[in-house]
Amino acid sequence: MIIEYPSYYKRFNCIASKCKTSCCSAGWEILIDKETADFYKSVPGEFGDKLRSKIDFEKQSKFKLEPNGRCPFLNENNLCDIYINLGEDHLCQICTEHPRFYECFKDRIECGLGIYCEEACRSVLSQEDKFTTYTEETNEIFDCDYNEEVYDYLRDNRAKIFEYLSDKSMSLNQKIADILWFANTLQQNIDSDMLDDEDIFNVSSVEQKNIEPIFKYLLKLEQNDSNWFNYLNNSFEIYKNNMDKFDLFEKENSDIQKYLQNLAIYYIYRYFLRGIYSEDILSPIKFMAVSIAIIKTLFFCKWIKQGNLNYSDCIYIVKKYAEEIECNDDNIMNLHIACYEVGDFSTENLLSLYV
Ligand code: SF4
Repeated sequence: MIIEYPSYYKRFNCIASKCKTSCCSAGWEILIDKETADFYKSVPGEFGDKLRSKIDFEKQSKFKLEPNGRCPFLNENNLCDIYINLGEDHLCQICTEHPRFYECFKDRIECGLGIYCEEACRSVLSQEDKFTTYTEETNEIFDCDYNEEVYDYLRDNRAKIFEYLSDKSMSLNQKIADILWFANTLQQNIDSDMLDDEDIFNVSSVEQKNIEPIFKYLLKLEQNDSNWFNYLNNSFEIYKNNMDKFDLFEKENSDIQKYLQNLAIYYIYRYFLRGIYSEDILSPIKFMAVSIAIIKTLFFCKWIKQGNLNYSDCIYIVKKYAEEIECNDDNIMNLHIACYEVGDFSTENLLSLYV
């Protein structure tokens, strides 16, 4: 068994006290695995007493967050008191692993960095090189149930998509449109048990549609931050009133193409192969297309609002979107379901956002 990582993975380091939007102050529930919780129950002395008073040991142990959403062990210097007092080995599993994610298959585990961490987001967005991975051996074994022939088909075609995305002769809009159509064809092949070899080719323009229904759908999901819906609504108003400047925005901000392309790769690396379990690979590709379209629109609104768009703005927007969508299991599931069954998310409608 192997474990696979994107090339930038090994360069990631938590920036701890330098982090402007620390995961330890985001108001997220921090669950503690049983082994660590049992250890915390046994820690002697004053720090042990503090641990026990700030942890809820009911059923699933978790830290009792402060009213402002901070972890009670994040000190005034934004450093972790558990790390300082007990060492890295005694952090709970979630604190050790964040922001890493794992996708498990029969022959491999795919690991990556979630973009809801600002430093991970920086690692993903700033990639200049072609996307590559490296592997290590692991003793883990997973008992997965899926069709291996379809799995191989998906892995081969995902590699084709990564290769296609790296082609610098086409615009990102064109590449995303082509990949949407390609995924549509792959899905038809899987549904009809005909795993034919397919090429990715240029699709031409379809009737232009508006991004409004997608924005409206996002407002039906749960919000983590109580300002998120306001932010989306205000952004959509800005977008509606300035649509004629969108081309100029894309022309003046050529760097965003690199960020968005790296994001497209992130979404495909993370979600496409997961489709093996439901044999639905079109929804993860649609999810990528929806996310890139929304994030690009939010970049545009920021540019309109402040007259320019810098790298930190992009990191903030991507991270915010990820916190609201990817960090909420219900939201990510509902958005994938919408991609599967809601008309506004049909392949044709999403294509119209790109060509
Ligand atoms: S969000 Fe990322 S960089 Fe910031 S504290 Fe958490 S793991 Fe570290």
